[in-house]
Amino acid sequence: MSGKIQLFFFGTGGSIPYSNRKFPCIVIKYSSYMISFDFGEYCQFSILSSKIKPLSSDIFILITHLHEDHISGITTFLHTLSLANYDRRLIIIGPNSFREMLFQWLSKRYWMNIGFDVLFLAFEPELKFKRIFSNEYFRIYCYRTKHFTKSCGYLVEFYKRKFIKERISEVPQQIRGILQDGFNAFENERIFKYSEFTVEKTLRIAYTGDTQPLLDLPSTDILIHEATYADEEFSIERGHSDAKRLLDILNRLNVSKTFLVHISARYKDINEFLAKINLPTNVIVPKEGDMFEFDF
Ligand SMILES: [Zn+2]
Repeated sequence: MSGKIQLFFFGTGGSIPYSNRKFPCIVIKYSSYMISFDFGEYCQFSILSSKIKPLSSDIFILITHLHEDHISGITTFLHTLSLANYDRRLIIIGPNSFREMLFQWLSKRYWMNIGFDVLFLAFEPELKFKRIFSNEYFRIYCYRTKHFTKSCGYLVEFYKRKFIKERISEVPQQIRGILQDGFNAFENERIFKYSEFTVEKTLRIAYTGDTQPLLDLPSTDILIHEATYADEEFSIERGHSDAKRLLDILNRLNVSKTFLVHISARYKDINEFLAKINLPTNVIVPKEGDMFEFDF
């Protein structure tokens, strides 16, 4: 599958929403997949008002931790999907404790007779780095972050096999698809090993959720990092990051684009935030409704 990976910023604020920034909600759209990093209040409204078309998407909701600003939109979204007869599979990934909380809550709802599958993949956030899910297009990993409660960040790795340019002419047209799917093929008395003719191409998108700055961030092409504060000294004691400290870490990583989110409500005007730090051009503070597209 080839095409565009779209990254929508629907919620870029922190724990208190205000006019311009809402609770965390960042969504990837790729082909028929919709993958949401956290799901704060307002998230479904933004998704439904966008071009994403969740009702015809396979939905993944990835929850970083159990603070209200990151989970408050999930139950109402499930309610909407139920009323709209959503008939695909919804996968929620999050800490073990969230599974218990969510299913207890749902068991009491009058509309709980839903007609679609909800699969919950739970994990213990103590794990340092773990693959949680994979299919033929992407893999989802979680990695440990440092916040006041158990928390994890996510890495979504899109992948596909691409032909090595110099060798593609050797491969008969009718077996190219087999090699691209990662299988060997036999044609004209010859074995074509996929590993000799194709290479894996990946695009990695990592999201931190709430955390102090981490020195052991996973290697990624695109990083969505919280920067609740611009340069405030107390950021770490509050379990968060500030852009100034984060830039020191980014200088040591090979990230092509970084987005700063979870901006505190104390910066009513983002220029107050930007005035305190000198951001390089590949570090962006997106605003609500911004969408970035990546060829893949
Ligand atoms: Zn938060």
